[in-house]
Amino acid sequence: MYGCSMQSSWKLTEENGANMLNIHMQVGGLLIVLVVLYLSFRAGFVQIKSKRLYFRALLATGICLLFDILSIVGIVFEGENGFSPVVVRLLCKLYLASLVAESYFGFLYAADEFVRAHRYKGMRVAYQLLVVAGVAGVFFLPVSYRAEGLVVYSTGPSVIYAYLYGLFYVLSILVTGVIFADKTSKERRQAILLWMLLWMAAATIQFFHREWLLVGFSAALGMMVLYAELENPREGIDRRTGLYNGSVLMELMNESYANDRKFAGMNVIIRIRDRELDHEKETELVIHAANFLKQTIKKYKNAQVFRYVGMELLLTFEHAGEMFETYDRFRKEYREEIRISKSGEVIPVQFLFYLMPDSTVAQSAEEVFWFHHYFSTELEEQGCVVMDRKSMERLRGYSKTKQMISRAMDERRLEVFFQPIYAPKEKRFASAEALVRIRAEDGSIVPPGKFIPVAEETGLIVSMGEEIFRQVCEFICAHNMKELGLHYIEVNLSVAQCEQEDLAERFLRIIDLYQVDPRMINLEITETASLHAKKTLMKNMEDLMESGVHFSLDDFGTGRSNLDYFVDMPVRIIKFDYSFTQSYFQNEKARYVMESVVHMMKKMQLEIVSEGVETEEQLAAMCSLGVDYIQGYYFSKPLPMGEFVDFIEEKNRPAA
Ligand code: C2E
Ligand code: CA
Ligand code: CA
Repeated sequence: MYGCSMQSSWKLTEENGANMLNIHMQVGGLLIVLVVLYLSFRAGFVQIKSKRLYFRALLATGICLLFDILSIVGIVFEGENGFSPVVVRLLCKLYLASLVAESYFGFLYAADEFVRAHRYKGMRVAYQLLVVAGVAGVFFLPVSYRAEGLVVYSTGPSVIYAYLYGLFYVLSILVTGVIFADKTSKERRQAILLWMLLWMAAATIQFFHREWLLVGFSAALGMMVLYAELENPREGIDRRTGLYNGSVLMELMNESYANDRKFAGMNVIIRIRDRELDHEKETELVIHAANFLKQTIKKYKNAQVFRYVGMELLLTFEHAGEMFETYDRFRKEYREEIRISKSGEVIPVQFLFYLMPDSTVAQSAEEVFWFHHYFSTELEEQGCVVMDRKSMERLRGYSKTKQMISRAMDERRLEVFFQPIYAPKEKRFASAEALVRIRAEDGSIVPPGKFIPVAEETGLIVSMGEEIFRQVCEFICAHNMKELGLHYIEVNLSVAQCEQEDLAERFLRIIDLYQVDPRMINLEITETASLHAKKTLMKNMEDLMESGVHFSLDDFGTGRSNLDYFVDMPVRIIKFDYSFTQSYFQNEKARYVMESVVHMMKKMQLEIVSEGVETEEQLAAMCSLGVDYIQGYYFSKPLPMGEFVDFIEEKNRPAA
């Protein structure tokens, strides 16, 4: 093969002149190539670069062997009744040219093993130009051939030229192998070295025994070694389903992203409804669905089904249209019931889909799977989630916010603002609600609407809530509340906090640490909290109330609350939500509702805070309704601690 022996010799001519074709070894080599080709084809084609390069090298090896055989046939049967010398010379040149090409493709494959990065792009162009020059040279330079007894060979400048090329590529493979040794695994290095050694040994033997035509054969053998060691697709194949597995998928996706190759993707997640299945039956379901999908995508070039994990299939397509077509067909034609062939059992199933029409919305395979992770709740709810630019932006915004929160917490940039709450009967500010803010690095204020939802989703809200509570206790500890005229401070509790088994314990410890009178604390809960983990919440409430902490019910009048709810919750205060307060002024019906609600709450000895009072008119209305406390922009927006203290000191100062 590479830089083939100085004489490639072919013919065994008996002394008596009878011709014998010495092509057994080459035919054997060709058979090996054909078998490996068959094996690679059977597994299906994946667009992975190393596989593509291997496939080309393999094809080149086969073609080279074919021309090797043809040129021997040509030389042997040259004559008046056989091939003309022009044809024979052409066959010899075709063989030599294919030898140059084979060396080149072998090099590309090997060099790729060594240099996975893009670093050799420029080098590759040089090598491409070189191979063109090589092939051109072979055709340009003269060639002759000779039959000498048992041995037949072609000779002349063209042959030497081709062999020098081969030698050059062999050396290139060895040199890149040494230079980039740390870029590749030991197995890969060893397999490629074995391939080269096979060739060199064959070339040496053939040099001394010209009638042993080993070189072409050992090139084929080398390709088989590479196949077994490096390119065996079975390794990436899920044994039970015969589908490519997750690791091949990852390789394919990583490469597609590295080379800016756009693709479309679709996940099909199989869910078994209302029962447990053993592993064996689960696999049968996967095979069933996979077979349908395989059949459906057969007509698309480069479409592929993967078994990503367990009951999850993933399909890749070249075009979005193919993906949507497959999706539609699957939904229309594939029933949500699978009959298992062995037992005849019918299993009710459900399918969930992620659709990715355009891979470029993500920047990496990692981001794609991160997307899947992030949207898993939505997937369960909707059955199908499309990964487009908008949803991707949401995901990126989410992670940016998550980072922002974590950093703010690490760098102690969480701040508590206080919004004064007015008590009309006392004609002064009797309390305040603590509201969290993040102080951005540039000193600006990030409002909770921007980060609370993410903090809740990530669970960061728990430690954030605790820090807010600590700051509130610190504030109470540092100020004379009585002198300020404040009876208590309201602190918001999120659902996740209410679900915390040791919430009461942790909060009481903080109260203790700052020597705060627990009656100074009023915790705001929402109805959602009790729907989630009522038992834990009730236990926490009991423990906290025992030491004097009070509770209010937040967001009354929104979808999140209903009338009968507060009846069995031990809260002292009900907070009318901003929207509820506003609705009072919008229509008569709402006014009647509010009037009777207030009446009922009064009877139950509940106190009422009205949030969102912005105008004098609203204030007057709420006061005449008999609301106990007013909170709203009419009096003040939430204020930083210092400003809040100034505000209270000024407003609550007894009139001179
Ligand atoms: P919320 O508990 O309903 O808090 C009242 C919100 O209404 C506050 O918004 C407040 O600034 C705003 N507000 C008060 N009066 C008026 C008014 O007259 N007009 C208008 N338009 N708005 C008014 P903020 O501070 O942006 O907080 C938004 C939400 O974020 C809070 O709603 C609460 O659900 C959450 N939040 C804030 N701080 C915390 C916290 O420390 N922990 C938890 N878990 N959630 C918090
Ligand atoms: Ca609140
Ligand atoms: Ca509220």
